[in-house]
Amino acid sequence: MKELEAALILADYISDIPDFPQKGVVFKDISPLLRQKFPETVERLYSLCSWDEVDVVVGIEARGFILGAALAQRAAKGFVPIRKKGKLPPPFFSESYSLEYGEDTLEIKGNDTPLTAVLVDDVLATGGTFQAALKLCRKANIQVDCTLVLIDLKFLHQDLESPVPIHSLLPID
Ligand code: AMP
Repeated sequence: MKELEAALILADYISDIPDFPQKGVVFKDISPLLRQKFPETVERLYSLCSWDEVDVVVGIEARGFILGAALAQRAAKGFVPIRKKGKLPPPFFSESYSLEYGEDTLEIKGNDTPLTAVLVDDVLATGGTFQAALKLCRKANIQVDCTLVLIDLKFLHQDLESPVPIHSLLPID
């Protein structure tokens, strides 16, 4: 019950913006949450994973950087960015995927030694970004043990098969 209450309180700070960035999409604007409930949000996300065996937090551009970097600081771990196409200097690994709206390509730098990670993003929608990020991590020698998303739009990815647990503060069925 406490969990539900806390989720409802955080949900009050997320705005639904209809038809953004294109018609038919209800965009979850987390700006009010970031401005007014940032420490609470980071702390609650932090509590959803076990951190002992984790080397790094992997964050997905762009809002995954905000939460991911704060979580890395909280957990005293390193941070690895997954960037949008064209931002990283070579060499890097690349993966294309479908979004709830449109298509995109993500990129990551490789690692010589294996790393264990927590993967972080703001919203899980169709799951395309998440699956591309997992593939990139594999290519980059990073094993993802746990995934954290602020908002999980579960109704958009009912058939998503995930090899790692996905934890969310705001699951929406
Ligand atoms: P997807 O690949 O469909 O799971 O989309 C996830 C990515 O797109 C995340 O990085 C989100 O930032 C963004 N995104 C997708 N749908 C939404 C939405 N309804 N509201 C806000 N962000 C979204």
